[in-house]
Amino acid sequence: MKIVLCASEMVPFAKTGGLGDVLGALPLALDALGHEVVVTLPKYKNIPQGSLPEIAHLADATVLRLGERGRVYLIEHPSYFQREDLYGDKTGDYPDNLERFAYYCRSTLALLKRESFSPDIIHVHDWQAALIPVLLKAAAPADKFFKNTRVVLTIHNIGYQGIFPKGDYDSLGIDQRFFNPQMLEFFGSINLLKGGIVFSDAITTVSPTYAREIQTPELGFGLDGVLLHKRSALYGILNGLDYSLWNPATDKYIARNYSAASLDDKHVNKQHLQQVCGFTVSDKPLLCGIVSRLAQQKGFDLLRRVAGKLLLRDVQLVVLGSGDAVYEKFLGNLARQHPKKVCVRLGFDDPFAHAIYSGADLFLMPSHYEPCGLTQMISLAYGTLPLIYKTGGLADTVSEKNGFVFNVYSEGELLKAIKRAIDLFANPGAWRARMEEAMGCRFSWDVSVKEYIRVYEKIKTSSS
Ligand code: ADP
Repeated sequence: MKIVLCASEMVPFAKTGGLGDVLGALPLALDALGHEVVVTLPKYKNIPQGSLPEIAHLADATVLRLGERGRVYLIEHPSYFQREDLYGDKTGDYPDNLERFAYYCRSTLALLKRESFSPDIIHVHDWQAALIPVLLKAAAPADKFFKNTRVVLTIHNIGYQGIFPKGDYDSLGIDQRFFNPQMLEFFGSINLLKGGIVFSDAITTVSPTYAREIQTPELGFGLDGVLLHKRSALYGILNGLDYSLWNPATDKYIARNYSAASLDDKHVNKQHLQQVCGFTVSDKPLLCGIVSRLAQQKGFDLLRRVAGKLLLRDVQLVVLGSGDAVYEKFLGNLARQHPKKVCVRLGFDDPFAHAIYSGADLFLMPSHYEPCGLTQMISLAYGTLPLIYKTGGLADTVSEKNGFVFNVYSEGELLKAIKRAIDLFANPGAWRARMEEAMGCRFSWDVSVKEYIRVYEKIKTSSS
């Protein structure tokens, strides 16, 4: 099949979270199965040079080779994309985000035509690419070029929908008749993700449990009704993890490589992390790690409420993250009050993330909701036991066999789960057995990619 993937992030070029990881792995997995893959991505300012071979330079795009026969088109528009960050700065989202990503969507379709690449499938990701199915529908039936093209939309987090004031509508470049409550309108505003859901042939999200949850008022963020309406075309496909990047046996960033067969070597990483954090170097304390966006979604409201009680125990806590000012401030204060027990690094720091995954004993991830979550999968691979709230992809990947789970989102239940972890940690044999179970878990792209192909094939054979 000819498949185009469209997204605003892709490892190794641009990443703020799991979306970038998925786009780093899925196109390569499709290419390896013999499909002809094209990826389009905005050409941001800080894109690393030279990570893939350049094969052409067009008037408005740089073309790179991906895998065996794939191509990446980095779409250029200096005033839109040559900025420090992807979506915004300290003052908030860039005010022209609608214009920027509408441009990206329109350019993607124009580029495919110019390159005479008429795809079987366009697979768009999140609100930034969700205008593409709307543009295709708006242009049809006049546009024969995309006559046989079907569109899949993947929702990586329904909490981010691309909502903009109605006054910005002209930037979309589509007819006013699409602005109505059955299409792009959402309580008087423009909602790009909603438009994508309405006009795509299939919708996927990144875990089976999350696919059910987003059809409910609690976790649908106002789009549960639209999704219920399209539920026969909605699929939950768990993300895979790229084990070539996340493998403690070969990881170049960590102090000592190890595997399930050489678990004793993991201690070296714990000691290294304790040194870096300025903690007492000792096997005894339970070293808890967090690598996360600092957002309420990730459970920081709950962590804030239990922190005092947690720190009464023999624990150390290291946090790497960036995000909401309120949590940055809370964590900064916590580290100042407990310099021997709490270390906080604000910012995005890939090597330090690896140090935490390999050095911590427990990975704290009490997300209030979690579409899939990659960090718990990574910590499992590193034998760092995740402690999670049973929601979304966390419920699909972590149990009391390979980690710790609490079922009611409350302070009390989180503290009970922490107590279970501390008690198990006091029993090295039982802790080790759970580490081995964790390291044996595999969330492979080989499995996920086949599920995507099944969806592609299904919509290809059905009429649009
Ligand atoms: P999200 O909801 O942010 O997409 P995921 O768990 O799906 O969460 O993916 C997060 C990805 O981003 C992981 O690869 C994680 O290691 C990485 N990450 C998150 N925060 C940081 C940070 N501050 N520094 C380095 N990597 C980070």
